[in-house]
Amino acid sequence: MVNKVSDLVNAGVTAQIIKKYDFSFQKRFGQNFLIDDHVLGKIIDAALIEESDGVIEIGPGIGTMTQRLCERAGKVVAIEIDRELIPILSETLSAYDNVKIVNADVMKTDLAALISDEFPGMNVKVVANLPYYITTPIVMNLLEERLPIDSITIMVQKEVAERMQAGPGSKDYGALSLAVSYYADTYIAANVPPNCFMPRPKVGSGVIRLTIRKDNAVNVSDEKLMFDLIRAAFNQRRKTLTNAIANYSGLSYTKEEAAAAIQKLGLSETIRGEALTLEQFAKLADFLTS
Ligand code: SAM
Repeated sequence: MVNKVSDLVNAGVTAQIIKKYDFSFQKRFGQNFLIDDHVLGKIIDAALIEESDGVIEIGPGIGTMTQRLCERAGKVVAIEIDRELIPILSETLSAYDNVKIVNADVMKTDLAALISDEFPGMNVKVVANLPYYITTPIVMNLLEERLPIDSITIMVQKEVAERMQAGPGSKDYGALSLAVSYYADTYIAANVPPNCFMPRPKVGSGVIRLTIRKDNAVNVSDEKLMFDLIRAAFNQRRKTLTNAIANYSGLSYTKEEAAAAIQKLGLSETIRGEALTLEQFAKLADFLTS
């Protein structure tokens, strides 16, 4: 039986388990398993887990990170979509009595209900080596649902980590940067090369922690309108903000109305959306509703 923490995060042991269970990696599930102990330590440390914490792990794979989470946290709930991995997890996690494995798609899981059922009175953190095909929808769901969680510490594609942390003026700045900065403070804990995974992904990765803010970063009277304006701005990134707003199907402002609100902000009507801060998008939304 493989149940020691140091056993799993190793190419040889991972290969042995894969072979024993005749497991085939599913590209469609973004399966790249972590095989580097140093990187695993970095994710676990970045997550700042305390003994009394509850942890949700998205996509435990064969349980490499789950073992380490079980050692640190009060309780771990690991949500895995691939049912072929469930018998493997039953073996690799058999030494722990503080873990629950849920065979489900995280995008179809009621996480608010899961938190109140599984972690009453506990501080909850999300930790994951995320499947790259679905990173942004998972992160946006976690943020927009306003779940009672302290932080989200995740391994993502390097470019996505950079986009989450970018500010105006950077080529990586976009709707994701603004959404993340509205809900959370970011910290990039590590850059991770492809050889730390089995199989190797084509791209580099990064570990980022999003610490959820108690209050949103800015006050805005119509949050949905602010995010629609952000979507409009980056949907047509090379156009002026005035045209991007007037052309966006999800909004019904004329070019004149958009230009007037932008001028009220003290900005030129030829400015592009990529130059605006979150605070300016919030003010723009307020001017358009007042
Ligand atoms: N945590 C493991 C590790 O670090 O070695 C595996 C990480 S692997 C990048 C992503 C994992 O997420 C895989 O186990 C995959 O099957 C699982 N997964 C993919 N899509 C999922 C979804 N929608 N819901 C839950 N798990 C998912």
